[in-house]
Amino acid sequence: MYRVDSMKAEEFISHQEIMETLAYADENKNNRELVDQILDKARERKGLSHREASVLLACEDEEKNQEIYALAEQIKKDFYGNRIVMFAPLYLSNYCVNGCVYCPFHAKNKHIPRKKLTQEEIRREVIALQDMGHKRLALETGEDPVNCPIEYVLESIKTIYSIQHKNGAIRRVNVNIAATTVENYRKLKEAGIGTYILFQETYHKESYEKLHPTGPKHNYAYHTEAMDRAMEGGIDDVGIGALFGLELYRYEFAGLLMHAEHLEAVHGVGPHTISVPRIRRADDIDPDTFDNGIDDDIFAKLVACIRIAVPYTGMIISTRESKQCRERVLHLGVSQISGGSRTSVGGYVEEEPEEESSAQFDISDNRTLDQVVNWLIEMGYIPSFCTACYREGRTGDRFMSLCKSGQIQNCCHPNALMTLKEYLEDYASEDTRQKGEALIRKELENIPKEKVRKIVEKNLTEIEQGQRDFRF
Ligand code: SF4
Ligand code: SF4
Repeated sequence: MYRVDSMKAEEFISHQEIMETLAYADENKNNRELVDQILDKARERKGLSHREASVLLACEDEEKNQEIYALAEQIKKDFYGNRIVMFAPLYLSNYCVNGCVYCPFHAKNKHIPRKKLTQEEIRREVIALQDMGHKRLALETGEDPVNCPIEYVLESIKTIYSIQHKNGAIRRVNVNIAATTVENYRKLKEAGIGTYILFQETYHKESYEKLHPTGPKHNYAYHTEAMDRAMEGGIDDVGIGALFGLELYRYEFAGLLMHAEHLEAVHGVGPHTISVPRIRRADDIDPDTFDNGIDDDIFAKLVACIRIAVPYTGMIISTRESKQCRERVLHLGVSQISGGSRTSVGGYVEEEPEEESSAQFDISDNRTLDQVVNWLIEMGYIPSFCTACYREGRTGDRFMSLCKSGQIQNCCHPNALMTLKEYLEDYASEDTRQKGEALIRKELENIPKEKVRKIVEKNLTEIEQGQRDFRF
């Protein structure tokens, strides 16, 4: 039985409801009248239900598909302007007791070197990340209660926040660790994490159990209900995602939206972010062994439909995706990207020889952060290192109500310009600096309120004189 506000995984992600949704989408994919109605509703910028959005995703009418892309682009512009928030992953440990068949960290992989950073090694990694210009990290670990207990994660977060090298600072640590208890989520909240991120991998229970044959992650309900426990533990910004390629993408899409609807119904606040990773090649993993891979066209459609269905939810893509693919989906809805990433443990300080790689997946976009920033600026985007909301306590429903009132735009744009200015002063190459300065001058004109513009101009001058960390 499907119940959006049930606390049972199998009820709020009801298999039967997803199958009926997919059948409904199939029946109506060329129903122009219905597609038009759904698009009209989407134009109100209040989002769509999983059923409505699934019809758009299934739609095969080329003309209507162009309307879907145009609307996604418009919603992206209205809510996120031309800003793209930057982050980097930091792998602390690749010890793992689980048997996920698509991940090289799985417990049975005997040839991957197992590593766990000491606090001193974390210090060095963080300094390397600060020296690139990063302010926002996503911590990544495998699941291993002995080698990587919660105390280690908490201590590492403390270490990361304490490091200040030159003008560097990590101002927001998002955490991507295995599903855990309410008590541990409470500890993470107290440690000052930003978003708690956990990918569902697949919402299809039967496939989930096959893909996770051993270890605690095998338990579908425990994993699927993790965000409810996180919210019970006081974490109000959570990030969800599915690993596309494991199951049928339309199934995952419906599951993702049902998960978002469930969080909204029960906790009054939907997910802060949705990630759209696609399965990648890695040690011991060949993506061709998975039958449900999606090509770049479907990927773009997926991004567009998520953007339309949940306009207030940030969307993240990583360096798993190539430069070309990232370029294509940026304007359709992605609001956060990683840059200069390493997916190995200790990879920022020391590059590993290929045959000894401890990486979770091969990176497609190998450019440095400066190259990514330069590329974004050239395309007219503002790379933003903003972390203001979290630090001003604008999380959970406070963040969402600000978003919904439209006022958040008055913070994001000036914050993007000021944090970009910091980046240009402290870390950019000469070419990036020049392009970035020109962009800031141009974008200053787009601050509607004169009073705000004057404050930003003053702050930009003070940043040149050495002051840091201004925010709205
Ligand atoms: S996906 Fe996570 S839980 Fe699964 S093997 Fe990899 S690190 Fe472990
Ligand atoms: S002001 Fe808030 S929503 Fe806007 S970019 Fe900064 S942290 Fe994100």
